[in-house]
Amino acid sequence: MTDKPVKDLTEQQAAEEAADLRPQLTAWGKAYYDADAPTVEDDVYDRVYARLVALETAFPTIVTADSPTQHVGGTTRGDLPKVTHEIPMLSLGDVFSIDELKEFDARLRENVEEDFDYNCELKIDGLAINLHYENGKFVQGSTRGNGSIGEDITANLLTLPSIPKSLSRPLSIDVRGECYMPKAAFLALNQRREAEGKAPFANPRNAAAGSLRQLDTQVTADRKLATFMYNIADYDPLDTRTQSGLLDELAELGFSTNPTYQVAHDMADVQAYIDEYTGQRNDLAYGIDGIVIKANPLPLQRELGATVKVPRWAIAYKFPPEEVETVVRDIEWTVGRTGIVTPTAVMDPVPLAGSTVARASLHNPDYLAAKDIRIGDTVLLHKAGDIIPEISQFVAAKRPADAAVYPVPTHCPSCGAELVHLDEEVALRCINPGCPAQLAEGMNHFASRNAMNIAGLGPQIVAQLFDRQLVSDVASLYTLTADQLLTLDKFGDKSAQNLLTAIDNSRNNSLERLLFGLGIRHVGAKAARSIAEHFGDIDHLMAADAEAIVAIDTVGQIIADSVVTYFSTDQVQQLIARLRTVGVNLTYTSGAVVTDEDSQFAGQRVVLTGKLLELTRPEATAWLEQHGATVTGSVSKKTDLVIAGEAAGSKLTKAQSLGITVWNEAQLQSAMTEK
Ligand code: NAD
Repeated sequence: MTDKPVKDLTEQQAAEEAADLRPQLTAWGKAYYDADAPTVEDDVYDRVYARLVALETAFPTIVTADSPTQHVGGTTRGDLPKVTHEIPMLSLGDVFSIDELKEFDARLRENVEEDFDYNCELKIDGLAINLHYENGKFVQGSTRGNGSIGEDITANLLTLPSIPKSLSRPLSIDVRGECYMPKAAFLALNQRREAEGKAPFANPRNAAAGSLRQLDTQVTADRKLATFMYNIADYDPLDTRTQSGLLDELAELGFSTNPTYQVAHDMADVQAYIDEYTGQRNDLAYGIDGIVIKANPLPLQRELGATVKVPRWAIAYKFPPEEVETVVRDIEWTVGRTGIVTPTAVMDPVPLAGSTVARASLHNPDYLAAKDIRIGDTVLLHKAGDIIPEISQFVAAKRPADAAVYPVPTHCPSCGAELVHLDEEVALRCINPGCPAQLAEGMNHFASRNAMNIAGLGPQIVAQLFDRQLVSDVASLYTLTADQLLTLDKFGDKSAQNLLTAIDNSRNNSLERLLFGLGIRHVGAKAARSIAEHFGDIDHLMAADAEAIVAIDTVGQIIADSVVTYFSTDQVQQLIARLRTVGVNLTYTSGAVVTDEDSQFAGQRVVLTGKLLELTRPEATAWLEQHGATVTGSVSKKTDLVIAGEAAGSKLTKAQSLGITVWNEAQLQSAMTEK
């Protein structure tokens, strides 16, 4: 790409430059849209795309039919059924400055006689979906694909709690909007993927797309996807005739809509909206990459129509990429629970997008080599998907003359064992089962809330227990004495006693907590629960083959194989024997507490909202379900009880307006202890 002003080019030069840019954009688009794994940053793509638009606008005769400016990006996966969009799903034109936004406004107003408002909306960083309803029933859901043909992802979308299966009115409509992954879910998913040696998703948009555009609906269900709907293919069946009214009407019909929209009369109002959300962006629970302004009257939208790719009545203002410079002082290698050894850049702390950042993961040796980060390098840092600090690149002009290529370690920084790559993994692993760093990480996981829930046993105490050789594995926790604990830093009689009590209490946990806590590869809390419930005790599980495990509805082959492999080693069998000797419960007891009929929750529809402080959501949900309740995601007239934690928002308000019984967390806890 040259930076010669377009006005100084001849048509021939413009055609040649455009011909160079198109294959590059097409290749980047393929990685982004089709594989959900971009190979360059969005702003790099955006700059090249904007240059192509500028060339083609100045010289319309050079436009080719296959130019990325002439079609909506994306194709369909061969193994997913296709859906034709009778009314195409379009992209959006974009601008990168307020001045360009004003030019868009001026152009539009020149062509429209009457005065009109805009509706300002957040541009959600997800992927577009279409939901087709017939007589108020959800019948088909699809991706945007190339705009005319998308992928049928109905089964996957059915697992999303925010998508209504039936509407409050029997309408036949195609509703469009964004499916996205909330920041917290994105963060947790990427941590899990790294722990499993898989490449992390680049941003929440790609994570959401990867989670929806695949064949296993269970994967989609586990990914905590959410939706905001904002459009309808044909507004005739609706009562409203404005974009802002459309959002209200969609909410009344039962859709999840984003409540932050604002009607703007002029560009000063639009600017105020942009300023407000530029400031709040980092505090939102979901990623946004800009603001969309839309002509508010729906008949005007219809009148203005669209080009082959974008509507003429809307435009996206993209936030400038927030990027800062800092210096890399060190590259640290840490060993995780599963033995994966991860490099992290340690940098001079800098403020970035709402927090101070001093560390950024370099993921694995391939990534480190591709980015060629060296100690002493000045680097450009941004937050991927608004949350994860990521180094974009080093600044070549500022590289110190003596900065050497960083050598990848060959031996474990904790135990010194030789490091390996398993199968096709990009990750580097220590496979020494006795590696102290892995054992300590494993013990942290064992003690964590969703596992054995040993309050007070945090990473610093675990590190000391290993350092002083007071423990060798998780079974040895149960033979610790008060005298031993008193040797730890800042430990007195009371703290020692509290920790011993917490450890002792954990002996009685139901089997699923232990199974999850053992850290078996691929076995999450949910799979652990299904397996424990199915087999009843550890002996039956250890005697089972993969076929017997995979017979459980929610458990796939990978999990089943992993469980069998885990229990087949002598070391693990000895560990289980030791856990038995020290009195740890090895049977499933959660389900045996109460039968459906004698519970006050039997047949009740319950919604959990807000932040629970004492319980975790999975704990509360599991307990309620065991007592006969159905736990759902949205409040409706059919809801019997809402349990509202801290900072509960719209669901609580809705419950109150519908006169539904609302409990706080303490009320739930007391019901739990009464049982
Ligand atoms: P887009 O994502 O910029 O804008 C259109 C989309 O915005 C719509 O399809 C819709 O899904 C979404 N959207 C979110 N909130 C909305 C709202 N409130 N109202 C209406 N629409 C809303 O356009 P695109 O054509 O899908 O993709 C272009 C984007 O993808 C660019 O940002 C580009 O950087 C990125 N991209 C990146 C690469 C790469 O290699 N990094 C490659 C291709 C595209």
